[in-house]
Amino acid sequence: MLFEDNPPTPLVGIARLAASSDLLEAKRQVEYLELETRRFIGRGSGRMREIWTINPYRGCEYGCKYCYARYAHEFMELRDPQLFERKIYAKQFNAAAFRAELRKLKLGATVWIGTATDPYQPAERRFRVTRQILEVFAGERGFDIGITTKSDFAARDAALMAEIARNNEIRVHLTITTLDEALARLLEPRAPRPALRLAAVRNLTAAGVPVSVLAHPVMPLINDSEESLDRVCAAAARHGATSFSAAPLFLKPCSFQVFIPFLEERFPHLARRYRERYSRSAYLRGHYPETISERVARIRARHGMHNQRAPESLLPRTLLSDQLEIFAPETKRPAPETGGTLQRKVNRV
Ligand code: SF4
Repeated sequence: MLFEDNPPTPLVGIARLAASSDLLEAKRQVEYLELETRRFIGRGSGRMREIWTINPYRGCEYGCKYCYARYAHEFMELRDPQLFERKIYAKQFNAAAFRAELRKLKLGATVWIGTATDPYQPAERRFRVTRQILEVFAGERGFDIGITTKSDFAARDAALMAEIARNNEIRVHLTITTLDEALARLLEPRAPRPALRLAAVRNLTAAGVPVSVLAHPVMPLINDSEESLDRVCAAAARHGATSFSAAPLFLKPCSFQVFIPFLEERFPHLARRYRERYSRSAYLRGHYPETISERVARIRARHGMHNQRAPESLLPRTLLSDQLEIFAPETKRPAPETGGTLQRKVNRV
């Protein structure tokens, strides 16, 4: 059965809301639903507590084999990890309520869009939730906004992002794990081709929107060679990106369940080693991450790129909780701080 229609235990919170969502549209194997949303803005935890998060959708049709965000569906009692890419929830958007939430944040607050979903996945063409969020930001000032995506469709909003940049900081973090189209198709089956993503880098930067390219995740013996990472970084630089980063794959249980069977089918010679290493811990430790870190630093220096930290490279140790979109306590917007780039932007207007 594709969908879990009869959860065994009473549902509460986000799970109850998800179970009562109205079906909006069904396409191929993908089902779109509307999710009642009381709060749009969530909060990071641990050392990411000062980061605010916005996820316009729940679930992601791109279906990357390594996707760490599948855990987000578990909050809705949807425990089959495949449902994350087949059952997509578009959040009900209310501009006035969202604006009111934003205004409770501290001036200069860092807000990341797309930490547990791709904000420019195919659903965005129809439902435009991300677009509506950015339209609200265009009337605000003093925010530090990051958008993480794997989609060339982000370039649709290049002019709007440039407008936002007049009074805020904004940066797009575009993920390109490899330039090998066949490999990308295997790893990220329904995401736009790397060449299309590079074209989006060009279009965004030409409009004045800063772009970072992430080659995250780095998968041992799959896309981790210096040559492969260098090709991505060189292409990113040629297309106008100013920052490049990459970090090793981590496999939480929700992604382990998908990635290991994928390896067994497509990279059987690697499956046993991955299974052994990631059964011990979701994270690789010691020599390998150090080697990748040095490799990436070398490549970055070779192409004159910066290291702009981005959600996907920070997530490994601190998962962001989507639950907080609903249950986070009220926050106050304190008096403006002085100093810093954002304050200068505010004063300039
Ligand atoms: S684009 Fe991001 S959120 Fe979507 S499936 Fe891939 S890794 Fe997951």
